[in-house]
Amino acid sequence: MAGDPDQLNAPLPWQFPHWERVRALREADRLPHALLLCGPPGMGKGHFARLLSHALLCETPTAAAMPCGACRSCRLTQAGNHPDLHRCEPEEDKSIINIDQIRAIGHFLELKAHYIGSKVVVINPADQMNLSAANGLLKMLEEPPSGVHLILICSRPAALPATVRSRCQRLTLALEDSAPALDWLARQPGVGQAETATLLALAQDAPLAAAELASQGHLERRQQMLKDLLSIVRLQSDPLQVAENWLKFDAKASLYWLHGWLVDMIRFQAADQPPRVSNPDGQDILLRLSTELNGPWMFEQLDRIAQALRLLDGSVNTQLLLEEVLLPWAQRKKDPVPA
Ligand SMILES: [Zn+2]
Repeated sequence: MAGDPDQLNAPLPWQFPHWERVRALREADRLPHALLLCGPPGMGKGHFARLLSHALLCETPTAAAMPCGACRSCRLTQAGNHPDLHRCEPEEDKSIINIDQIRAIGHFLELKAHYIGSKVVVINPADQMNLSAANGLLKMLEEPPSGVHLILICSRPAALPATVRSRCQRLTLALEDSAPALDWLARQPGVGQAETATLLALAQDAPLAAAELASQGHLERRQQMLKDLLSIVRLQSDPLQVAENWLKFDAKASLYWLHGWLVDMIRFQAADQPPRVSNPDGQDILLRLSTELNGPWMFEQLDRIAQALRLLDGSVNTQLLLEEVLLPWAQRKKDPVPA
C-alpha cells in the first residue's frame, strides 16, 4: 500500500494540499516540533510521514520542500539507515509501544545530530503507546531539544491522552477533493474506471483502503451477496446456507452492507424520481427488491441489523446472528413474486 513507485519522492496525489500546508509552515519557520498526523486508515499517513521525515533531513530540498533524492542524507534515508532518523513502532508480534521504546527515543535525542542538525522521530501508530509510554513521551514533548521533529501517526487521536494531544499540532489527512483519488484509483491494478467512485465510497474516502478492497474482490463479493438476497426473497435459496457463505466472508462487513442496501431500497420505494443512492453498484437489484418488499417490514429489518451489529462485538454465535437476520427475508414479501 505504499502507492506508486514513481511517487516515492512526492506526496500521494490527494495529499498535495496537506503537503502545501506543511511547506508553508516550514518556510515561515513555524513547523511545530511535534506533529500529530491523523486521518482514517488508508489515507497514506505512513507515506506522508516518510516523505516529510526525508524532507526534513535532506541537504538540498526542492522548491516544493520535497527531498531531493540525491544528497547524502536522501541516500541514507532511502536505504533506511539515516543516523538522525528514528522510527518507533510496536516490536514484532506486539501491538503496543512500551516505555522502553520511548526511553530509546530519549537516548536518540541525547545524541548530537550527524548531518544538517535536524533529527526526526516517527512514532507509528502513536495511539498504540501504553500509558507509561505516553507519559514518558510527554516529558519529551514538554522540553523538546532544538532541531528535533516528532511525527506521531495516529488514526484514533481520541485514544491518545489529552496531555499528549495538546502538545502536538494536528494535521488531518482527509480527502479535500475526490478527483485526484479517483484518477489514482483508476490506475491501480484490477480497478475499472466505472468502479472507482463506488470503491472510494465503500472505503469511506480512504483511497489506499479503496484499492485494497478492489484487490480483495469486494465488488464481486457484493454482487454475489445481492444476488443471494434476491434469491432468498424469491425462495430460490436457503437463508441458512447463505448465512454460512456470508460468515465465511466477513459477518460485520456483510451486516453493514445489508444495512446500507436496505436504506437505498427504502429510498427507492419512497421516491418518485430515481433517488441518489449510496450503493450505485447494487442499483439494479436494489430497485427490484424494493418493489417486492414492504416499507414497514424494511424498517423492522434495519432495527434487526442494528441490533445484530451491536451483539457482534460480544461473545455471540455469529452464524446464528446472520441466520436471524436473513431468515425473515424468506418469510415476508409484499406481493406474490412473478416467476
Ligand atoms: Zn536530499
